[in-house]
Amino acid sequence: MSKRILLYTLILTAQLFGQAAKLKEIKPGMNFFKKDQDVQMGREYSQQIEQQFDVIQSGPLVDYINSLGQKIAAQPQAGGFPYVFKVVNDPGINAFALPGGPVYINSGIILNAQNEGQVMGVVAHEISHIALRHSTNQVSKSYMIQLPAMIAGVYGQTKGGLTGMLSQMGVGLAANGLLMKFSRGAEQQADLLGARMMAQAGYNPIEMARFFETLEAKSGGKSGGADFFSSHPNPGNRVKYVSEEVTLLPQRQFNADTGKFQKMQQLAKNLPTPKKKTPAAGEIPNQPPQNSDGSRTWQGAEFTIKYPGGWLGLGEAKGPTVTIAPKEGIKQEANGAVQIGLGVIVAKYEDDDGKFDFKTDTQKLIAQVIQQNPTMSKTQPQINQNQVNGRNVYVTRLVSKSPIDGGNEIDTVVTIEHRGGMLYMVFIAPERQMQSVQGDFDNILNSLSLQ
Ligand SMILES: [Zn+2]
Repeated sequence: MSKRILLYTLILTAQLFGQAAKLKEIKPGMNFFKKDQDVQMGREYSQQIEQQFDVIQSGPLVDYINSLGQKIAAQPQAGGFPYVFKVVNDPGINAFALPGGPVYINSGIILNAQNEGQVMGVVAHEISHIALRHSTNQVSKSYMIQLPAMIAGVYGQTKGGLTGMLSQMGVGLAANGLLMKFSRGAEQQADLLGARMMAQAGYNPIEMARFFETLEAKSGGKSGGADFFSSHPNPGNRVKYVSEEVTLLPQRQFNADTGKFQKMQQLAKNLPTPKKKTPAAGEIPNQPPQNSDGSRTWQGAEFTIKYPGGWLGLGEAKGPTVTIAPKEGIKQEANGAVQIGLGVIVAKYEDDDGKFDFKTDTQKLIAQVIQQNPTMSKTQPQINQNQVNGRNVYVTRLVSKSPIDGGNEIDTVVTIEHRGGMLYMVFIAPERQMQSVQGDFDNILNSLSLQ
């Protein structure tokens, strides 16, 4: 729906300055969120994740990863976040970090590593993403226009918390598959900061780079072969730039190995079959079952809605909002931001002055939508009254630029009065596909049931 402004972080490698170069400062980029909002967001997302993944909560493997993680978390560059380390019972090669502290390491990392330094490399890399606040930095860069007002205004009033607010905006930390895809620049930053912290903790940073390259080779050279690379794209030349970084670091003995790695690898081999299958990146978790007519029913906080069986419902079950779209209607940009080019958003409108008036608040919502979408036509739209299932609704047709075909996009906003407030639905489609999708849109609108 909206145009993102992309800024690319330029990483100057030490190489540019030759061997005499000093260590380059690695700092978090611009960010509209406060550090404690990173923490809050990470907690909200970790609850969602732990419902979906087979997360091991305690035991020797978790203790082991935690003991490694704490050595890095104690480094000054780790930023003092409340780090929590957990192991996911999943032989797939993956690891991920949520904003503000939670780190998840798949058992597949332990299974595929050759030594403790390699596991430590992954842990240090993930911690660096958190310390450098890459997730919220990326969201801030992508939503420069919308976020400041959203954070200042809606935050604290939205029941769904920060993640609810973000999903209302279509931000895809959790929407597209699961994880935000980092930029290659962010990957290199995480490698370099991770390397420094590893060295300080007594581990040879080159093991991190070697492990990533081994994994890359295993996946046949194509990024995406191992799950890890679908959220952490390979910046290339890792061994080279990490080696160069090591030459700039103070000389240290890398002798912190605990000697427990072989035993831990054996424990990882003997884990029971995972109870839940981790959704691969790009794959959407937990669709509700199909009804006898092939459709699916989404249960929201105060509504249910049916959608075509081949489409995806993105959102939190019983949450205040859901985005319904065919897979091809979801566009992920290189920076990980998600746009809906074809689909339907259903959300509860949060009135901010406590004086709800159906027509006035509909006008306010429309003004907000127009303001937040740089590509949207600024012509004052006509707000029409209509009826759906015997209820009064307002229907407003807006025009913007489609992320799918670059032509016109029709955004039809329908507001429905409910419980002293309102729900709104946005039907999004490229103008060229309007006719073919109209039947689906009508069915979705007519299936809305309010509770
Ligand atoms: Zn990464």
